Amino acid sequence: SNNGNHKIPQATAKRLPLYYRFINNLYNQGKARVSSKELSEAVKVDSATIRRDFSYFGALGKKGYGYNVNYLLTFFREALEHDDTTKVALIGVGNLGTAFLNYNFTKNNNTKMEMAFDTSMEKVGTEIGGVPVYHIDDIEDKIGKDIQIAILTVPAQAAQPMAERVVKAGVEGILNFTPARITVPPHIRIHHIDLSVELQSLAYFLKHYPLDEEEQ
Ligand code: ATP
Repeated sequence: SNNGNHKIPQATAKRLPLYYRFINNLYNQGKARVSSKELSEAVKVDSATIRRDFSYFGALGKKGYGYNVNYLLTFFREALEHDDTTKVALIGVGNLGTAFLNYNFTKNNNTKMEMAFDTSMEKVGTEIGGVPVYHIDDIEDKIGKDIQIAILTVPAQAAQPMAERVVKAGVEGILNFTPARITVPPHIRIHHIDLSVELQSLAYFLKHYPLDEEEQ
């Protein structure tokens, strides 16, 4: 789509919600300014990157003063809190899917879990975390123009066919929690989160790149 923030690099844009959460906390504590060093320690992003990111936000830190919290808060609000909520559908109400339905995503952002789909007749017709579960055959009917994002928590072998189906039904983005690598048309944005790969990767790092205790 065409709205906003075209000059901000994608890597910077990805850190926006992180910055926003921290700046919002500072604001609630009554702080008027923050240094890049303070920010860096809190959000675990190096201060050079923070300074570069913030220059894209039009925020220029001053030596001995830091950044103006109010300015940043207004910027992040306008960038992130667009008026319309992004509606989400979840495909696959297994263990992980059920956890997501019960998880309160709305606390911090403008997304809303609207509906879920499954093939299991035991799950269809129920409501989990206030979200209705429909049969997968109703995807086209229910998703319509209303749902922008699909979360995939189906078995790996169902991921590609389900992705194609939600794309046909009209979603614009997919959050893929299956280990399957999915191919989608170029106008569809897809983010992959493979929890077992993340866990294995952390275990590997612990083993092979132990942190120097003196730097802690
Ligand atoms: P569970 O204990 O409920 O089986 P799980 O996460 O281990 O949880 P999976 O085999 O990964 O189970 O399946 C996740 C969910 O996806 C299940 O509820 C299953 O009924 C559902 N499912 C399987 N195939 C499809 C499909 N093609 N489309 C939608 N949902 C599907």
